[in-house]
Amino acid sequence: MDKYGILKKYFGYTQFRQGQETLIDAILSGRDVLGVMPTGAGKSLCYQIPALLLPGITLVISPLISLMKDQVQTLNQAGVHAAYINSSLTENQISKALALAARGVYKIIYVAPERLETYGFLSFARQAEISMLTVDEAHCISQWGQDFRPSYLKIIEFLRQLLRRPIVSAFTATATEHVREDIACVLGLRQPELLVTGFDRKNLYFAVETPRKKDGYVLDYLNAHPADSGIIYCATRKNVDALYGKMQEAGIPAVKYHAGLGKEERRQNQEDFVYDRRPVMVATNAFGMGIDKSNVRYVIHYNMPQSLENYYQEAGRAGRDGEASECILLYSPQDVMINQFLLESKEPNPEFTADDLAAIRERDAGRLRAMNYYCLSTRCLRAYILSYFGEQGQSRCGNCANCQKEFVEKDATEEAGKIIACVRELRGRYGINVVAGTLAGERRAKLREYGVETCQSFGSLRSMGEPSIKRMINQMLAEGYLAMTLDKYALLKLAQKSDMLLQGEQKFVVRETKQEISQQAGQHAPAASRRKSDILNSKGLELFERLRALRSEIAKQEGMPPYIIFSDKTLVDMCVRLPFTPEELLEVSGVGEHKLEKYGEPFLAELKSYTGGAKEKLYFGEVGDAAACLDAAALPSRARGARQKAEFFLTEDAAAQFPYAEKYLAPELAVKLNELRDEAAAKKTSGAEILRRSQQQGLSEERVVDGMRRKFVTKKGEEAGLFLGMRMSKKGVEYEDIYYGKPAQQMVVGWFTQ
Ligand code: ADP
Ligand code: MG
Repeated sequence: MDKYGILKKYFGYTQFRQGQETLIDAILSGRDVLGVMPTGAGKSLCYQIPALLLPGITLVISPLISLMKDQVQTLNQAGVHAAYINSSLTENQISKALALAARGVYKIIYVAPERLETYGFLSFARQAEISMLTVDEAHCISQWGQDFRPSYLKIIEFLRQLLRRPIVSAFTATATEHVREDIACVLGLRQPELLVTGFDRKNLYFAVETPRKKDGYVLDYLNAHPADSGIIYCATRKNVDALYGKMQEAGIPAVKYHAGLGKEERRQNQEDFVYDRRPVMVATNAFGMGIDKSNVRYVIHYNMPQSLENYYQEAGRAGRDGEASECILLYSPQDVMINQFLLESKEPNPEFTADDLAAIRERDAGRLRAMNYYCLSTRCLRAYILSYFGEQGQSRCGNCANCQKEFVEKDATEEAGKIIACVRELRGRYGINVVAGTLAGERRAKLREYGVETCQSFGSLRSMGEPSIKRMINQMLAEGYLAMTLDKYALLKLAQKSDMLLQGEQKFVVRETKQEISQQAGQHAPAASRRKSDILNSKGLELFERLRALRSEIAKQEGMPPYIIFSDKTLVDMCVRLPFTPEELLEVSGVGEHKLEKYGEPFLAELKSYTGGAKEKLYFGEVGDAAACLDAAALPSRARGARQKAEFFLTEDAAAQFPYAEKYLAPELAVKLNELRDEAAAKKTSGAEILRRSQQQGLSEERVVDGMRRKFVTKKGEEAGLFLGMRMSKKGVEYEDIYYGKPAQQMVVGWFTQ
């Protein structure tokens, strides 16, 4: 059998993915290889297929027990004889496994690097025929990588002790040149075939959100995606515990994971997550390495991570099966400080010299800065990530939040110049609040205290308003026209590029959001990802759910995670093709001979009973569309609107039920309105939103009087039914606020009714 035969027979696929064939061919011709491919690209097949074609045994070095277990389960399911040897086995089990291995029972054996130097293993390896040594997660060998494991250095010594040097293949998802060189050099690869595939993960949707209440955002998201599995990463254990508590209150089937939990609890929680018993995981970054769960539909970062390296690796745990998945980062400027603190309190590796440490600190600060600018960027998020990793991508991907927003661009070189002048005048001693306040000419007590009122810059951008100035400063930071200290003071400084703007060498273009494209009726966002199951019609979806239930049942009986039996993609393909015979089932993507034999019958029975044996069309579009849909590389376009909540709106029926009263404050109005909304379709509105609209329509105003921000109702506002009334603050101070009378309430309801 050749490589294509193996691909179909054991793995059930008909085509290789980008890069796989090159690496497989190189190995089969006896060469060492180094494969650098992003998470989910399919690195495992690159060594598993040659392993089945080479005469002897392939040893796979893998850093984590969970990773080995997952891989071996998957292989056994596919009908490949594989085993792992690590500390989760007893000495007795290990000697048995080695005895079987010596008799040639296993083609592929996974081992932990620590195992390589033990006497028993070494004597086995010196007698057996080892055709290939594979190093998975090979970046663990580099001291510069995030996950350096000293035990990986033992691999070289082990290789030296073998009687015949096997082919050495190494795989990693870490892109940087530095790490790549380390791997080739430290492992002593001999003129390896080096293959680096693109780092783009087309099925992942990227977004940065700045919700006022992160908890609320997360809970809303989970409620809107109840059937999906996902991970929420927090920066600290405390955050994990707090968020987990809220999820429990809300009845969400979640588990948590961080280094403060006992070993057994961590193991149990991880298993509950992997087996989909509890599909939501809240964790610190201690969780994830070695988790190959393929159906993770979203990864939400509750805090900004320390670097894009970390972010892309963690976010990349979504959508390994190639299905559309979401990576959302919840940003707040405080995250920068938390990270700064975490970096400072990191235990230094005692083996590093003072120079090393200084270099590492500088590197970390630079990484954090780049991460922060990602969050502030108004340009294509994917393009930002790819260019960070040294890859040139399209400037607009169409499948990230920024590409789906409509921006208005305008030349703001002059305004940017004024901002730079202000930072210079204040000599880089203040943060964004003081700088923006100064430019806007605000009469705040704090500003008076700092004496900025006498500056030339004071009020020089008054017409822009403080929020717009702040947005512009953030954009200047993101594009390198200003810099910010990464301590808790976050002081604004001039940057190298600042001068270019002042001297007119470069233009500064601001981009401001107009409206999310997805909210505009009938408009389609370009090239947005969709899920495979989106191609199914309602009857198809029902069948899909039945097949999922069947899969869960089998998984439970066998003690396997469901996705190891069949992936979601495979189930959708079944719904599209409706196979009724074993031959037809074999045509389905992801069904190999072994799985056909093991699970074919119950699935065929379910397919027949549901359809009554009739090949109905249970999907939208043409056969070709459906086929293309199942190919992760070709994702057709679709507006995301259908799955994402729209801004707040009411249906006419809901609006008719509004409880009108004599008067409401804006926040009270918002509460009443929100009670009537369709939670699944619309986001909440807020008092602030209602006030903003009132101001926009010239019904009310905010002015600063005697250093205090005060609200006013305009003539037009009075006519519409707004009026000022007295309120009492918590401290017992009386102040004026805007009330909405009945006609005004009707107007507001009208704004939001569709
Ligand atoms: P990596 O190790 O690169 O992160 P994996 O080897 O775990 O990725 O593969 C990710 C997923 O892609 C697995 O579910 C695997 O079955 C699937 N896959 C790999 N190669 C192919 C292929 N040629 N066609 C379809 N699916 C594939
Ligand atoms: Mg892998």
